[in-house]
Amino acid sequence: MEDGFRMILEGMGEDPNREGLIDTPKRVAKMYAELMTGLSGEMKAEDILKTRFHEKYDEMIIVPDIEFASMCEHHFLPFTGKAHVAYIPGDCVVGLSKIPRVVEFYARFPQIQERMTRQIAELIQRVLQPKGVAVVLEASHMCMTMRGVKKPGATMVTTQLLGRFKTDEKTRAEFMSRIYASR
Ligand SMILES: [Zn+2]
Repeated sequence: MEDGFRMILEGMGEDPNREGLIDTPKRVAKMYAELMTGLSGEMKAEDILKTRFHEKYDEMIIVPDIEFASMCEHHFLPFTGKAHVAYIPGDCVVGLSKIPRVVEFYARFPQIQERMTRQIAELIQRVLQPKGVAVVLEASHMCMTMRGVKKPGATMVTTQLLGRFKTDEKTRAEFMSRIYASR
């Protein structure tokens, strides 16, 4: 990564040996290692939801406003925003901190927002087997706000609905009204 970033600087017309840039390739390499921990394969997403509690609770559980930062794989610039996740338990629930950790896990890959939304929903569906899962991601993309049609603050909203959230309009409406009431 260090050699590669040095080449990118040269390609830009910069001098990678000038004082301010001399350690930059090393810093950038270290930073990407931190930001892309998903690629290390050290952790499996399933493990985050390993500890489950058997609980007779069959109402919607909503975890709103989970802040995240990920990296757009098309331009390698960040996209940042909030995730809102809900599920209707089958026969088990997970601790409150686990859902934000799932969001964090999938943020640590070169990503696109649509895939990240789907991955979060599908993991929860696969591991917890709830009656339904809903995931909404709202994010602002630096590749949109810094270049081209510069639109600061423009956000993109992606949604993945599974199970009851997909089939039952009332459930979906309750979820949407509760996440949008929280601001
Ligand atoms: Zn992009």
